[in-house]
Amino acid sequence: MLVAKGADIATSTQRIEKPEAEWKAMLTPAQFGVLRQEGTERPFSSSLNDEKRAGVFVCAGCALPLFTSRMKFDSGTGWPSFFTAIPAHLDSKQDFKLIAPRTEYHCVRCGGHQGHVFDDGPPPTGQRWCNNGVALRFIPAEGKA
Ligand SMILES: [Zn+2]
Repeated sequence: MLVAKGADIATSTQRIEKPEAEWKAMLTPAQFGVLRQEGTERPFSSSLNDEKRAGVFVCAGCALPLFTSRMKFDSGTGWPSFFTAIPAHLDSKQDFKLIAPRTEYHCVRCGGHQGHVFDDGPPPTGQRWCNNGVALRFIPAEGKA
């Protein structure tokens, strides 16, 4: 994975445990609401929605790489969307916040909520990883920023 020199990226999935008060102090209120309270940002509110440069999307909580720009597609939903994810960097669970169960997914390192995965995505996977932009940080590839 080619990223800019000095880019702040986590190289280990070793689990981070922090008291919620510490997360609250280090995250913005919007990040905290999504990552720690499983909130959902307003559609079309994230600049990452239109991010088309080459690079990597890391967890806003712990800097673990979750997606690369090659995994991104324009779903038209207003949330950054991906047809797959970096293997073993996300974990999922069923959530019953809406009437139909949805598959919630979160960062394996810090447990931060990222989004929901649906089965109406494009080939080759047919998956749509619908991610909150505020829960991600984009790091452009070296030389392409
Ligand atoms: Zn994380």
